[in-house]
Amino acid sequence: MPSADPESSGAPAEPLVGVLALQGGFDAHARVLRRVGARVREVRVPDDLHGLQGLVIPGGESTTMTLGIARERLKEPLRELIGRGVPVLGSCAGLIMLDRDHLGVMDMRAERNAFGRQIRSFEADLHIAGLEGGPLRAIFIRAPWIAEHGDRVEVLASIDGHPVAARQGAILAVAFHSELSGDDRLHEWLLARAAECDTRR
Ligand code: GLN
Repeated sequence: MPSADPESSGAPAEPLVGVLALQGGFDAHARVLRRVGARVREVRVPDDLHGLQGLVIPGGESTTMTLGIARERLKEPLRELIGRGVPVLGSCAGLIMLDRDHLGVMDMRAERNAFGRQIRSFEADLHIAGLEGGPLRAIFIRAPWIAEHGDRVEVLASIDGHPVAARQGAILAVAFHSELSGDDRLHEWLLARAAECDTRR
């Protein structure tokens, strides 16, 4: 038996999804992605982006993540990948990274620590527009919200009138951690789009 290299075999492979792994909660996302049937690659340098059919930007500290992206010269390669329509899920600090002031791929401005610092860590059952199967268990940890957005951004969920989940094309940004609640539907959403994503373009 030849040793199977899943990245080069002709077999219909599971979608290859990257997780930005410079800092923060990338490991929990990788576990959920594997659970829903993705091949996972941790992304630390631009070469790691080749052939990805989807990407997760995890929570963490957006300032540290921004420094890491600059250090590894990942900003333009990430913008190029997302600009090609490769589906993305950004969670918490990942939502911040997607906004106008960071990667600039989503027409919105995130407000960091918008619920207050430590005391406003909380859980909620959130109704997400378009997501079947009832409310999603969402864990907010020093979470941002979307302070302002353009027409292309579709708000999917809000708390007290503040958007905490939104979509722009194939980009899904959520202010909370769904990778910690055992509810895998957002990762399944990403995987379904990743499976349709043709990397040969
Ligand atoms: N407060 C963090 C930031 O501003 C985000 C917190 C998180 O990702 N859990 O970067």
